[in-house]
Formats: sequence, C-alpha cells, structure tokens
Amino acid sequence: NSYLKRINEVEPKVDALICETADFAIKKAEEADKMIRDGNINDLTGIPVVIKDNMCTENIRTTCASKMLEDFIPPYNATVVENLNSLGAVMVGKANLDEFAMGSSTENSAFKTTKNPWDLERVPGGSSGGSAASVAADECAFSLGSDTGGSIRQPASLCGVVGMKPTYGLVSRYGLVAFASSLDQIGPITKDVTDCAIVLNAITGHDPKDSTSVDNVRKSDYKEFLKDEIKGMKIGYAKEFFRQGLDEGVKKSIENALKTFEELGAEIREISLKYMDYALAAYYIVASAEASSNLARYDGIRYGHAAEKYEDLIDMYMVSRSEGFGKEVKRRIMLGTYALSSGYYDAYYNKALKVRTLIKQDYEKAFQDVDVIVGPTSPTVAFKIGERVEDPLAMYLADVYTVPVNIAGLPGLSLPCGLSEGLPVGLQIVGKHFDEGTILNAAYAFE
Ligand code: GLN
Repeated sequence: NSYLKRINEVEPKVDALICETADFAIKKAEEADKMIRDGNINDLTGIPVVIKDNMCTENIRTTCASKMLEDFIPPYNATVVENLNSLGAVMVGKANLDEFAMGSSTENSAFKTTKNPWDLERVPGGSSGGSAASVAADECAFSLGSDTGGSIRQPASLCGVVGMKPTYGLVSRYGLVAFASSLDQIGPITKDVTDCAIVLNAITGHDPKDSTSVDNVRKSDYKEFLKDEIKGMKIGYAKEFFRQGLDEGVKKSIENALKTFEELGAEIREISLKYMDYALAAYYIVASAEASSNLARYDGIRYGHAAEKYEDLIDMYMVSRSEGFGKEVKRRIMLGTYALSSGYYDAYYNKALKVRTLIKQDYEKAFQDVDVIVGPTSPTVAFKIGERVEDPLAMYLADVYTVPVNIAGLPGLSLPCGLSEGLPVGLQIVGKHFDEGTILNAAYAFE
C-alpha cells in the first residue's frame, strides 16, 4: 500500500509507467501475506517490482511502447515474470521504454516521455528508462529491464541506481519481445548491489523454452559474492575509454573510482581494447539486421495493429506497419533490411560479424591479465529532454561504452560512483563470461 501511495504521488511527474497494476498488486500482496503466514518466506516475498513493458505478463497488456501492440494482451508470462511470481514478488506496474527497446532516452515511446527523477527536465536514459526511473523514484523496490546495447546499464547510470546485464544465455529470454536476439538479455535494476544479487538469484537458470539459455552452468548463490575483500583483484581499464566525447566530470569520477579500488587493495592495470572504436558501427548493423527480421512478424494479421482501410493484401501489410511503427523503429527496419539485402550483405552484415569476432578477441586477450574491466557506463550524465531527438547519431553515441559488452556476450554492471553537475555518474564493471560473482564482489566492495 505504501508503494501504491508513492506511485500516486510521483507518477504524474515522473511518467515511468505505461500501466499501473494496483488491483493485481493487492491480490498478489495478499497471496504473499499468506505465504509469510505459512512460513514460506524468501528474499522477494511481498517485494514490489516494476517490469519493463516488453516482457509478457499473462492477461496484462504488454505494449513495447508501440502503437503496434497497444492492445496486445499476452496469454502467458515471460519466464522471468513466472520466476518472480513463484517467489511472491508483487508487480505494481509495467515500465515505459523506447519503442521495442530502440533508443537511449525513452523519448521513442509512442505513449509518454519518462523524466529523470533527479531533474525532471532531463531524460532517464533508455531504453529501460521507465524501469530505472521507477526505482530511483521509489515507485518499486526493484525492476527488470532488458539490455541489447546498454539499455539496463545506461539508464541505471543516468538515474543513479544499480543495473546489471548478465552474460548472454544466463537469463531466459522466453516471453521477452525480441529486438536483436543475439544481443538481448534481461537483468535487474536495483537500489544497491545486494539487491542486484538477490534478483539475479531469482531470475537465472536454465529454461528449456529458450534454446539460447545455458544448461551447463552451475547455479550460483550470488549473495555469497557480497564481500568487502578485493585484495589482489586485478582491475583493468582501457586507455581507449578516455578519448574524446567523454565529459570531464564523468572522467574525474571514473579516475577517482580507480583510486578507490587501488586503496581497497586491488591491482590496477592498463589494457587495450583496440577495436572499441568500431563497436558502435558493428552494433547498429547487427542489431538493426536482427530487428528487421524479428519485426517482420507484425503484419497486421497475426499480431497487433491492423489497418482499417487498404486495397489488397500487400497494401494491408504496408498500411498496418506504417501506422503501427514509430520513426526510430522504421529507421532500424530500413537500415537492417538494407544491410541484409543481396549485394550489400557482404559489405555490411558480414563485415559487422567479423568486427564482432575481433571485439570478442580483444576482451579474451584482456581477460588473460585482469579479473574485471572498469570504465564509464555513459560518456555523459543525463542530457536534456529533446536535446538529441533530431540527431540519431548523437543519440547512438550514448551507447559507445555499453555496446561492446553485448557484442561479446559478457556480463556488465553499472553502479553509482559520484556526481557531476549534481547528476549521477555510473561506473561500469565488466567481467568474464558467467563470472557475475567477481563483478558483484568488486561492486559491493566499492559501494
Ligand atoms: N540504445 C541502444 C539502441 O537503441 C540499445 C538499446 C537496448 O539496449 N535495448 O539500440
């Protein structure tokens, strides 16, 4: 009840939610009360959560912030939602996002623009802007986001909360509406590192319904990694991180963070990620190519918005898609279709895949010398609403530090590491595949 009251108070200002699920929450909270009375209690029983609106919730509208799915009511739950339900977590709302998770500011939502709780004239980041803002504004205790190129870590950074993208394959994507299937991953957005470990415990594990979910990794208790001790831990930073485009204030916070790690007994080493500069270009080819294919299913017949006036079948597809999709989604579909078309496939898509391999090798080499790699999550603090909407390239640059991590399938966490211009700065910690534990250890000691 206190969270629902808080939502009523702040939601008119923050606009983090597409849909509030108060009645559902009361019912779930009563069930959680019963679980507790029966002695069936765990870390998440009765804990209020917000879910990004690109994860399917049974009998509750799931829109992807698109007119295309404005009235879509899934008949099933995403696996992660099912996991949280079975532990007694209480969903209080579905979070706003950039349409189909394409964006870095949540301004691409077809329904509303979420504001940053630190400064209502600024963006919360994106695409999981509603998820991050709802945690920062205390509308829930934690939320789930999805991260294809930074969409959990960048909004967490801009809103001063903790966000983690797990290793590709660690968390089931079943019921997550696909954007770029080889990059998408669901993860927690929380107040602190302890909560991050708790939520990770709840959502990780093999799922036969997702063929990319791994079944050969032993289930960890991530709480065991919450230790202050990091003496001897080898922490790398890439010189490529400190190039142009990085705000002075953000740079200072990151340098201070490196000092803190050193004082805590870690060994700081310089590494090189020499293909970093090509990551953004490769990402926007691969992600758009996969998106153009994934979004082909919205044809006005099987799902979502259907045109009312049309001439023939082809026209029906065209009108439905023209009306249903927003500008950025259309831009991605065009980019992706072009990159995959015959004659251009080798020049763009294939080349991007080669760059992807080089970036993976960069990390493999670096991880022979270090346990984790730290750097900025975002080159700037939260920018002003409207400032980048007309300039997609400026918007894409927000992801320069986060996309290489998705390209390599690695785990990455963003946690607050100071303020610049009175706004939060995020520190990104990247680890080896399935080594979420070491990241949590470093983050916990730092926090
Ligand atoms: N901002 C990036 C994009 O627009 C990443 C989005 C995401 O991670 N979902 O593609």
